[in-house]
Amino acid sequence: MSNVIYLDNNATTAVAPEVRQAMEPFLGPYYGNPSSVHTFGGQVARHVDKARQQLAQLLGCGPAEILFTSCGTESDNAAIRSALEVSPGRRHLVTTRVEHPAVLNLCRKLAKDAADGTGYRLTEVPVDSQGMLELADVGNALGDNTAVVSVMWANNETGVIFPVERIGAMCRDRGVLFHTDAVQAVGKVPMRLCELPIDMLSLSGHKLHAPKGVGALYIRRGVGFRPFLVGGHQEANRRGGTEAVPLIVALGKAAELAYDRLATEQTRVRKLRDRLERELLRRCPDARLNGHPEQRLPNTANISFEYVEGEAILLMLDEHGICASSGSACTTGSLEPSHVLRAMGVPYTAAHGSVRFSLSVYNTDDQIDKVLEVLPPIIRRLREMSPFGREKLAAPD
Ligand code: PLP
Repeated sequence: MSNVIYLDNNATTAVAPEVRQAMEPFLGPYYGNPSSVHTFGGQVARHVDKARQQLAQLLGCGPAEILFTSCGTESDNAAIRSALEVSPGRRHLVTTRVEHPAVLNLCRKLAKDAADGTGYRLTEVPVDSQGMLELADVGNALGDNTAVVSVMWANNETGVIFPVERIGAMCRDRGVLFHTDAVQAVGKVPMRLCELPIDMLSLSGHKLHAPKGVGALYIRRGVGFRPFLVGGHQEANRRGGTEAVPLIVALGKAAELAYDRLATEQTRVRKLRDRLERELLRRCPDARLNGHPEQRLPNTANISFEYVEGEAILLMLDEHGICASSGSACTTGSLEPSHVLRAMGVPYTAAHGSVRFSLSVYNTDDQIDKVLEVLPPIIRRLREMSPFGREKLAAPD
């Protein structure tokens, strides 16, 4: 797999060699339980503490404000459910139409039972054609009954960055808890949570070069929290279950690497992404960028190639060992554009031909050259091959 050109880093990332090395002793000789009183367990507990400090440095918060979890989805669920529990009597949730399913599907599930009085009222704030939020829409959604607002830091499909600082400030003014899903933002943009009006923040290890199966939730000091996993006294009574030590150590190391590399590497990644994007838009007719051109993560480019199917592009890229992902998913034989592109009102013909390229610190100039060599002829061929022509792919009335 070494020749693969991996441009799907918003889906998952390669485990950094330094991270693998750091976690290895905890799969071998250091297998003690960090809660044990003996020295053997105590040694291990010190490494869990170290990981918490490494992650706190990346986030700009205190180590005690970090709770290790199993993934981003768990962090999102834990945050929102806890916010509801600590806000008795408040029965309203606010989120956006473009959240990851880890937030959106939970909110919709909580809202489903609203009719029989056991559920919550849900406001899903819309986005504009560039995937941006209108701050006033968030403000107007807040009411005396609102328990929590959950708005992502950066969108996984388009990379669009939301103004979380200003949204958090509005929530704080109104006495409403604010949670942000920062699974795609952590390690890619600088953060100093101690200076931001954010109550809870979710992240996931496998998006920043740690293995799958570990995440974290930041809970600002003083914010009430009710455990999602009820059990033992681990994680300062905030999450039952023996700590996944090798994975936690890995996440700590990945956070340290991300912190050290943030300024230089993300600038380099942005240059690669910009060149890829600029040249694809120049060389491929009827191509357009999805998402705000500037308010975006440095690593993400979501481009629509009109009148071709994104899935077909992916398959042909795959033949060249190039991995990307599309903004439409094949369900029951029909290609459904993603809820994010639909919420942005991306036209049918463009949504179907959307491809997301998401880069990492491991991508190189040579890899971008290869994609630029291979992809424009693929788009030309697919358009020529299409038996339907442009009209057939156009949206039905
Ligand atoms: N939130 C966002 C924005 C994501 O992109 C993802 C994963 O793609 C998640 C949450 C879920 O993270 P995990 O896969 O660790 O559960």
